[in-house]
Amino acid sequence: MPVDFAGPSVNMLRRLAAAPPVSPSGRWRGDVQRPPWTTEARIREHCTSCKACIAVCPGAILFEGPAGTPKLDFGAGACTFCGACADACEETVFFDRTELPWALVATLGAGCLLNSGVSCRTCTDVCDERALRFDLRARPVGRIDVDIDACTGCGACVGICPTSAITLNEQPNKQGPE
Ligand code: SF4
Ligand code: SF4
Ligand code: SF4
Repeated sequence: MPVDFAGPSVNMLRRLAAAPPVSPSGRWRGDVQRPPWTTEARIREHCTSCKACIAVCPGAILFEGPAGTPKLDFGAGACTFCGACADACEETVFFDRTELPWALVATLGAGCLLNSGVSCRTCTDVCDERALRFDLRARPVGRIDVDIDACTGCGACVGICPTSAITLNEQPNKQGPE
């Protein structure tokens, strides 16, 4: 059903203005991760906070973020890129789904257990794309390298890491929608 919306309310604009700044590409704002196929700028301009996208996400990984706009939490699970969120939106928030959904790539931080000499392969086991390459030659317990071309930024590895060592970051060499 179409949403009767004349534009963002004063309160909504105030709350968004108080949030951390948009990244140069417009896809990130501080720790607020948005759904695939959109940008921070598009959400700010066109989202009516109707929550239709949040309601249809089969993985229940979308939540209410700033001013009721959609926020994705990889701690709740991975994005399957099913496209249900984009399809449910009646505004011009989302890009064409034939585009790359985003330019996010996994990054392993210093907290990885391998850096402490503790053997762990939890993240490599869940990566369907085989983007996390385990190098057994590294001593003493191996090392994981990320194949940035193979990584889809699905986030399956993020919530499952026992030390929360994995983050998703924009990879400048990957072209997302503009
Ligand atoms: S693409 Fe699917 S799984 Fe990913 S956030 Fe949208 S509805 Fe959820
Ligand atoms: S799941 Fe976390 S701690 Fe384990 S290997 Fe991967 S990044 Fe390291
Ligand atoms: S974000 Fe997805 S594709 Fe990328 S390394 Fe993690 S599990 Fe693999």
